[in-house]
Amino acid sequence: MNKVIIGTNWKMHKSIAEAKTYTAELNEFFEGFSDDIELFIIPPFTALAPVKEILDTSSILVGAQNMHWEDEGAYTGEISPVHLEELGIDLIELGHSERRQYYNENDGDLNKKVKAALNHNLRPLICIGELMEHKRNGITEEILSIQLKTILKQIEFESAKDIIIAYEPRWAIGVSGVSPEPFYVQRIHQFIREQLIQLYPSIGYEIPILYGGSVNTENAIPLLNLDHVNGLFIGRAAWNIDSFKEILFDVR
Ligand code: PGA
Repeated sequence: MNKVIIGTNWKMHKSIAEAKTYTAELNEFFEGFSDDIELFIIPPFTALAPVKEILDTSSILVGAQNMHWEDEGAYTGEISPVHLEELGIDLIELGHSERRQYYNENDGDLNKKVKAALNHNLRPLICIGELMEHKRNGITEEILSIQLKTILKQIEFESAKDIIIAYEPRWAIGVSGVSPEPFYVQRIHQFIREQLIQLYPSIGYEIPILYGGSVNTENAIPLLNLDHVNGLFIGRAAWNIDSFKEILFDVR
């Protein structure tokens, strides 16, 4: 059986001190907790090294929230895949809705980032999702298909086996009380699975598809029970260690 993948992106939250306290507690909690769950956390850049140090011998994976696609260069303010590889970072989150909205991140750039990540032993966690406007106009599937095909262009199946997809409807992120109906999530995950099989006939059924967007202690299990939902990508509900533990207890 494939592991269920559960993780959280902290966005621009937590000081180094807060990150250390949270990570130490999560590490202790997760030790011997379950072999069926693959757990990851994605702290801000400043906390990556201290968090990685705490998790030195742990199975908990550590990700970064963004990176440039070049190894080095005159790109003030950017972090390269080489920097992340040097720290032993496991995952790289790419294409989060907030990156697309505030920093004009587009699918063409994401394609370059995925290739760079794969060249540097970073597992790409690729976020895709539609706006409310797309949903209203009935073009969600079209949008997701374009996102997937552009982001995964020229990525061969040998590399594609390392990617993780996170379906995050952009209208459901960070908004209290707005999470999609299970039948909607089910339909879209099924669609994404079909697209992945079309792109990668031999391994498309194995690529994990996580759901993210207003996941909380109430809806985590119903969402996870849906077909083709292979894990959860959680924001607010996991920033508090107790509520994250509650979700993990339920999943186990
Ligand atoms: P949320 O965030 O769980 O707070 O809605 C999800 C995300 O941004 O990935």
